[in-house]
Amino acid sequence: MSNNIISSTRRCSLPEEIKLDALAIAAHRDDTEIVSGGTLIKLVDLGYSVGILDLTAGESGTRGDATTRAEEARCAAGAMGLKYRHNLELPDAGLYDTQENALKVAEIIRLTRPELVILPYWIQRHPDHAAASLIGYRGCFLSGLIKMPLIGNAHRPRKIIYSTSFQDVEHSFAIDITKQFERKKQAVACYKTQFEEKQGVREVYPPARDIFDYMEIRARQYGYMISATYAECFFQREKFSFDDPLKIPGISI
Ligand SMILES: [Zn+2]
Repeated sequence: MSNNIISSTRRCSLPEEIKLDALAIAAHRDDTEIVSGGTLIKLVDLGYSVGILDLTAGESGTRGDATTRAEEARCAAGAMGLKYRHNLELPDAGLYDTQENALKVAEIIRLTRPELVILPYWIQRHPDHAAASLIGYRGCFLSGLIKMPLIGNAHRPRKIIYSTSFQDVEHSFAIDITKQFERKKQAVACYKTQFEEKQGVREVYPPARDIFDYMEIRARQYGYMISATYAECFFQREKFSFDDPLKIPGISI
């Protein structure tokens, strides 16, 4: 793992400047791993420089504490081959789409200059997850405005995609993560305080659902849609455009 994985305990230090190809933004440590971890690993496998920005430290979570979860996040970053991980330490269970929070995200966008940003879908059960989507989008937008009171040069990611795995919404496309699925499970398994094998501990919403069973079932379902074994799903707001209609990607009719 790179030294660029930043400890959340270094709160007052200026976040590191590093050029990334892709950055995933989420409310809590483990959110990204569960919904789009396979895709991040695939990007790493393709040779891209990939990172995660966690917005909160998880201090309000039922299980574990912020220090333990920081160690678990480092473990997961190593399992995924990330070049960068930073935590903004915004209030857990109190995340709101404010200008102040968006500017903090915009600062990270300028310091990491990603071309691709992955956000949670904006309709969510957990209010922090929905807020993370809005804060992430606003942060990406503000980062591109030259006159914003921010460090660094203006930068706006070329593309934002939204994680829609586990959401019963229309997906724009699916990514085949068959070769990455085992490593995705290893990354999620780093979060021992959240998902280790004790009765009741591995459960996630909906109640009495084991996280690893749930990931398996959903990834198989999404894989089936594209003739792969495992996949993750995403939404993009913009329409696709193709120069050659005979070469539109995807499975045949
Ligand atoms: Zn979460």
